[in-house]
Amino acid sequence: MQTNQEAPVDLRSLLPEELKTLMKELGQPAFRAEQIFSWCARGAGLEEMSNLPKDLRQRLAEMAVLHKPEILKKQVSRDGTIKYLFSLRDGNAVESVLMRYRHGTSLCISSQVGCRMGCTFCASTIGGLVRSLTAGEMLEQVIFAGLDSGERIDSLVLMGIGEPLDNYDNVIRFIQLVSHEKGLNLGKRHISLSTCGVVPGIERLAGEGLPITLSISLHAPNNALRSAMMPVNRTYPIEQLMRAARRFAKETGRKVYIEYTMIAGQNDSPAHARELAALLRGMLCHVNLIPLNPVEGKRQKSADTSAMARFAEVLKDCGVTSTVRRKLGDDIDAACGQLRRSSTKKETL
Ligand code: SF4
Repeated sequence: MQTNQEAPVDLRSLLPEELKTLMKELGQPAFRAEQIFSWCARGAGLEEMSNLPKDLRQRLAEMAVLHKPEILKKQVSRDGTIKYLFSLRDGNAVESVLMRYRHGTSLCISSQVGCRMGCTFCASTIGGLVRSLTAGEMLEQVIFAGLDSGERIDSLVLMGIGEPLDNYDNVIRFIQLVSHEKGLNLGKRHISLSTCGVVPGIERLAGEGLPITLSISLHAPNNALRSAMMPVNRTYPIEQLMRAARRFAKETGRKVYIEYTMIAGQNDSPAHARELAALLRGMLCHVNLIPLNPVEGKRQKSADTSAMARFAEVLKDCGVTSTVRRKLGDDIDAACGQLRRSSTKKETL
């Protein structure tokens, strides 16, 4: 059974309540909504929804879309990290990265095709923003990475291609979908949203009452350095960003994670560490120190392990907890945007 590519209803983006309304419109009993929702969460196509009447499946095929992404590319790292390039129904592609930790399997997903935030160290932003993903397209990444790997996804990170708070409504809908008990039932506490510092989005998120984790990609401890690395800082400088982060921690009672990518000679000195510690004093937070994954065409290099250890030591002396993160998948195109970019480059050669 073929789905209609022009149809406006994106079945995988609908919550059970909305499917119930749709079923009512189609003269179907309400319980069909849960059946469809559960099939969608398992990655089934309409033709596989064997407990639905054939005429309903036919009607849905005419009026709705239910895309099954293709795996355009898959890279498996020595450490077990898997990077996927998934097709979207309009011919675009997005990346997801599956990482295996001692505490379980985590999936990093994309929220947009490309990104307009312009961070200087990032491959995802090189071609700008193409479009935002629907909630269903974010869910697809979780479902099909799980099906392909045969792993249960224990936690999710919205830290792939795109700025999640630049696609706010779809991201919130996605969180509701993926955590729904009739679907994948992934606990909201196991979902982490990473932002480059879109302050109005952080403030809005603080009021949603969602027990998710907020990560802030800070990467620099002062405005001069941060504005040079991350143009978003010119609109929302560090003082505003820290106020919003403190508010999020206070309103949700949840620790904010500060992501700090260590770039050799740029932001990795003990003086930078002291500046960072002063910024975070008294805040419910934890710092992740991340080695930079080099991006082809960019000159920046990762700080070395001794600089990272020294940085962590200074933070500790100032009362700020931190973790030096392992470099996962450094033998594949692991930094966000690199697989999509290398694939697009090859296609255009
Ligand atoms: S780091 Fe994130 S926010 Fe910045 S350009 Fe890359 S994808 Fe966009």
